[in-house]
Amino acid sequence: MDTTTARRITFREEVENLLHAEEGASLVRCIQCATCSAACPVVEFMDHTPRLLIGLINAGMKDEVMASNTFWTCASCYACTEKCPEGIRPADVMYALTRYSLWKDTFNRDWVAPEFSRRFTKTILRTGKSYEPGYAPAFIFEGGIPGVVREMQMAMKLLAKGRLPLIPSRIKRIRNLRSMVARVMPLDGIE
Ligand code: SF4
Ligand code: SF4
Repeated sequence: MDTTTARRITFREEVENLLHAEEGASLVRCIQCATCSAACPVVEFMDHTPRLLIGLINAGMKDEVMASNTFWTCASCYACTEKCPEGIRPADVMYALTRYSLWKDTFNRDWVAPEFSRRFTKTILRTGKSYEPGYAPAFIFEGGIPGVVREMQMAMKLLAKGRLPLIPSRIKRIRNLRSMVARVMPLDGIE
């Protein structure tokens, strides 16, 4: 008689599967020491500290985690990852959660970062290169009129130095790039 029973994958395992990391300890090793939170330069803008976010993942509190702005606020400085005494890589967890959020379409439409990330990824998948003027219409008004003026001044300077392309260019063999990306992350919801 087959005594095996199918087990549902936990949220922590789901996140760890998305890490695609050959190094880095399992999140179950987290001792909640808060070294990551103390090292984080943008923790004051996060609704959950990195320590708390890891704790919520381990507790399987998926809805709370996915509604958090923490991984969208992460500046990818890797200070947390350098300092974690247990060898956990919180910065990579942040990346995994942003990918998961885009893939599952769970991100908050009022936030700038997820929508910017989605457009940026889309542009890279289409052309292999970033194209800053393509993002401007969607985000230039986020900083109000002073922000528009600042952005215009910056654009003029970049144009003068030939650092702002007027026409988007495309790399050769874009299909190869797309296949490589598709091997490490689902493209559903992004393309
Ligand atoms: S530094 Fe590492 S062990 Fe400490 S709370 Fe952060 S993830 Fe957990
Ligand atoms: S990588 Fe992100 S979460 Fe980690 S310390 Fe830097 S900003 Fe904070």
